[in-house]
Amino acid sequence: TSAKQVVTRFAPSPTGFLHIGGARTALFNWLFARHHGGKALLRIEDTDKKRSTQEAIDKILEGLDWLGLDYDEPPVFQSDRAERHADVAQKLLEADHAYKCFATPEELEQMRAEQRANKQPMRYDRRWRDRDEAEAPAGAPYTVRLKVPTEGATTIKDAVQGDVTVQNAEIDDYILLRADGTPTYMLAVVVDDHDMGVTHIIRGDDHLNNAFRQLPIIRAMEEIEGNWPDPVYAHVPLIHGSDGAKMSKRHGAIGVEAYRDEEGVLPEALFNYLLRLGWGHGDREEITREEAIQLFDLDGVGKSAARFDIKKLQNL
Ligand code: GLU
Repeated sequence: TSAKQVVTRFAPSPTGFLHIGGARTALFNWLFARHHGGKALLRIEDTDKKRSTQEAIDKILEGLDWLGLDYDEPPVFQSDRAERHADVAQKLLEADHAYKCFATPEELEQMRAEQRANKQPMRYDRRWRDRDEAEAPAGAPYTVRLKVPTEGATTIKDAVQGDVTVQNAEIDDYILLRADGTPTYMLAVVVDDHDMGVTHIIRGDDHLNNAFRQLPIIRAMEEIEGNWPDPVYAHVPLIHGSDGAKMSKRHGAIGVEAYRDEEGVLPEALFNYLLRLGWGHGDREEITREEAIQLFDLDGVGKSAARFDIKKLQNL
């Protein structure tokens, strides 16, 4: 068996600071790549033009650099790749793994209102899946939707969560290309991960549901052109505040540079602290960067939410 080189990526959306959760995701990806002598890559997911800012990009890059996380290639900017994303949507369309949906926003609103009234799950009802394009008015705008298999179930062997199964009928035929031809986030992530050769996707478990929507694209492309292997997924439990509630600003959902500037926290201290947030290495208190690279694995990532305690960080 030829062992494939490990490639990981950190893929922040530059809509705010590099907060504790993002920094930990970045650290785990970096350590995993370094542990395996693989590649650590960075992708800036700047497709949301309204919310992405240059300031956030600068802050994220600066924060990663301060933590000592280096990358093996220059960052990929997702917004540069819209043509390639649309290209893949076209291939899916041609191979009948996607279809044009001519439903108007008003029609979809009415569909949702009915589902809400009938207490049904709010999900696109696949109304254009089996219809002929010729039934649409000439020149009518359309979105491109993925034709997700409706039979059977999909199981992900997640490296942290274990086996997770979802019935395919519960996955909607979601939009790949909007009516203006721009790619959706869901499509962009999958195409970029493939093109960057990412083998292991390590990210917050708030993305676990997305994995079930992303896999059908991967499997369809594998069928169409081959060389689209399933990645290994590792969905890491989110960090909670010391009171057990979801992280908020009060808990430290602020930029890592604030710890440096306002608390005088040193990068090695934060590195150590982040590592211990969700990864167990016995009762060791301090661990060097080299030891962390040697020891890090996904088996040691805990299955329950880690608790962030600013006091512990301040005492380092
Ligand atoms: N850009 C996404 C985020 O910041 C991450 C996407 C992913 O890791 O697949 O939440």
